[in-house]
Amino acid sequence: MNLSAFGRRLTSESGTRSLMDDLGEIAAGGGDVVNLGGGNPSLIPAAEMVFRVRMQALLQRGGAFERAIGAYAAPEGERGFARALAGLLRREQGWNVTERNVALTNGSQSAFVALFNLLAGPPPAAPGREGPRAPRILLPLSPEYIGYADVGLTPGLLTACRSTITELGDMLFKYEVDFEGVEAVEDVAAICLSRPTNPTGNVVSDGELARLGAIARARGVPLIVDNAYGLPFPGIVFGDAAPFWDDDTILCMSLSKLGLPGLRTGIVIANEEIVAALAAVNAVFCLAPGSLGPALATDLVESGEALALARDVIRPHYAERAERAVDRLREGLEGCEVRIHKPEGAFFLWLWMPGLPIPNAALYERLKARGVIVVSGQHFFPGLEDDDWPHKHECIRISYADEWSRVERGLAVVVEEVRRARDDGG
Ligand code: PLP
Repeated sequence: MNLSAFGRRLTSESGTRSLMDDLGEIAAGGGDVVNLGGGNPSLIPAAEMVFRVRMQALLQRGGAFERAIGAYAAPEGERGFARALAGLLRREQGWNVTERNVALTNGSQSAFVALFNLLAGPPPAAPGREGPRAPRILLPLSPEYIGYADVGLTPGLLTACRSTITELGDMLFKYEVDFEGVEAVEDVAAICLSRPTNPTGNVVSDGELARLGAIARARGVPLIVDNAYGLPFPGIVFGDAAPFWDDDTILCMSLSKLGLPGLRTGIVIANEEIVAALAAVNAVFCLAPGSLGPALATDLVESGEALALARDVIRPHYAERAERAVDRLREGLEGCEVRIHKPEGAFFLWLWMPGLPIPNAALYERLKARGVIVVSGQHFFPGLEDDDWPHKHECIRISYADEWSRVERGLAVVVEEVRRARDDGG
């Protein structure tokens, strides 16, 4: 097969792809593998019941199911859902939004592919004039979500700043934004961060978010906030943090972590110009985003039940898990030079092992050999490729979303292997 330059890049080894392959291989192999690696949400019976009831209602309401599956939506996505969501955001958050501020995509991952390439990369050619440098998406936090790594249709779309590290005591630490580093970056097309952050469970403070917004505004570029785990739903935020949106902010949401990743429904709240651009991308890439997710979720959103689900079921489930998982690691790793990122949201523990005698990739292999899958941390530094920060090789990500008995078993093996790596010097 003769591939284009783009084809080569897309099919060559990418972090996201190798992780997905690894997880696919494990799933296909069956067996008793403890998978603490993927991004799947927990299967929470109370949430599953809500979705089942809503699906039954959709099936029973005359013609609603047939309309959802039998016609293409608008390229900006199903408008009834957009209206319901805009209404909820006006009521609950006081945001000045209408359905014209809402675009849907097939999962929020597709929204990042569209947004990053709409905003960053080579500007249109101007005849007879050498173009300026291609502006890039600036990730003010690093580590950051691996899914941003390979979305560029042109190379070099991302740049990132190392996070600063604040020790909190009691084996905990927290990443913060290095604002001097952020201010120093040139040729910025947009600033983007996940909040809560995958892989760390960090929730950037309201103050940090406002300051990033001010920096973006001063440069005339948008602030993209990846709210896949955030407020108002799925609401996997354990402390106080206010959701934020204004006309210069692009807020990306998703139904996935509410428990519906199979429905591939991503949601973008943005100004009308961005929404129109996303509709144009949808039309080319997929004609229109799927309608079944929005059809299932419209009543959930309209009635406010989505908020109750987030507040009363989803958030307490993960908050309790986070606490239990941290306790297990604290007990098991007491006396070891190990830090855990303070879990403030999402459903991952990010373990930092300063001065680990073996690289995290080797620890990953040892865990895999014992039937426990985590994700080795070096994959989570998109945009920081040429940086030789040892920190990249001292961290792993552990999901605590799977069935608790399996998580518990996996954590026990993690404890043993981290101790072994420490004790035998690799
Ligand atoms: N953003 C973050 C931070 C994520 O962790 C994920 C998935 O794990 C996504 C976006 C993409 O989610 P989806 O495409 O299922 O909406």
